[in-house]
Amino acid sequence: MIEYRFDKTELEGFATALLEAAGARPDDAVCVAAHLADANLKGHDSHGVGLLPAYVRHARKGLVTLDAEDRVIQETAVILQIDAGGGWGAPSGFRLTKRACAMAREQGLAAATIGNCHHLGRIGAYAERAAAEGLASLHFVNVTDHGPLVAPYRGSDARFGTNPVCIGYPAAGKRPAFLLDIATSQIALGKVRVAANRGTRVPTGSLIDEKGMPTTDPTGMAGFEFKGALTPMGGHKGYGLAFAAEILAGVLSGSGTIQPGNPRRGGLQNRMFSVYINPEKFGDPDWMETEVQAMADYALASPLMDWDSPVLYPGDPERAMAGKRTREGIPLDEKTCSLLNEAAEKLGLETRLENA
Ligand code: NAD
Repeated sequence: MIEYRFDKTELEGFATALLEAAGARPDDAVCVAAHLADANLKGHDSHGVGLLPAYVRHARKGLVTLDAEDRVIQETAVILQIDAGGGWGAPSGFRLTKRACAMAREQGLAAATIGNCHHLGRIGAYAERAAAEGLASLHFVNVTDHGPLVAPYRGSDARFGTNPVCIGYPAAGKRPAFLLDIATSQIALGKVRVAANRGTRVPTGSLIDEKGMPTTDPTGMAGFEFKGALTPMGGHKGYGLAFAAEILAGVLSGSGTIQPGNPRRGGLQNRMFSVYINPEKFGDPDWMETEVQAMADYALASPLMDWDSPVLYPGDPERAMAGKRTREGIPLDEKTCSLLNEAAEKLGLETRLENA
């Protein structure tokens, strides 16, 4: 398999040009592009620039409102609810995070919802922003505006999105921020797309085909019409978390769940329910810092089953990958590059991912 390497700024520049050509306002294009390239940098290619052809298609079909403005549905001392007006996810998602973090610093807690927005991308990015401000956060997200992708536990067809759940906690002494940021399907949909583009298989047990039978062939779920379903992670546990995300994000945001009575225009929308927490309002910061470090040291000192696979602190894989890709460049496979260059060409742009 041929791979090409790019640095983050090259990908950002390319993505910004595509998004602007598709009609995004310049500041939205910059924000969305940076968010996608950052996902690549941190190793989540499923949520990186490979999504651009879909984003461009959504913009051109009117499935993203290009001149959207955030509308505050409710704001109290501890509750913030925003309707993003159908606009791009990342700009509204980061604005929500900034405002809710300010509330949580003051009050100790803030609960926030965002609804009616395009894809929010890698959810860990919002938890990282909060952690950088010394705040813990929880995020539940559902995915709508297209058909479902994930089968319920014991079901044989898709009824849910990949509904990510994310928990962040700020750096404590020598330990950098904790970040658990996971889809509730065994694998994220984007990983199926990446596997199909690379011509590889997906792990056993992560997909079922149209007949509800297990398969490792990603092609049925890699196009625009999904044939089959992803399976929930951890059986009833992932299924239960996906359901919780439908209720917390879909219902509390006021924008709705993936049930078929809600619109499915062939776009990609997220709703998110987040709680931001200021640990300093819960106890002695010095004790908390020492305790987090002691717990992390204890967990990571477990004797290894395999010397090549250390026990990691959640968030470490993204930091390690960001370091490696900053040094070595971000790899993109040939198929992804050609799809991105095709999208640029269709928009009448001359820019290309050049070492492709
Ligand atoms: P994944 O399976 O790669 O897991 C990532 C998480 O697990 C990270 O928090 C990482 O630090 C941690 N982790 C990984 N290996 C670890 C180890 N050995 N020890 C300790 N911690 C470890 O992630 P995924 O489920 O494929 O999700 C990928 C991304 O997709 C996430 O960023 C998620 O937000 C995003 N996503 C977004 C949407 C959406 O609609 N916006 C939907 C689904 C997924």
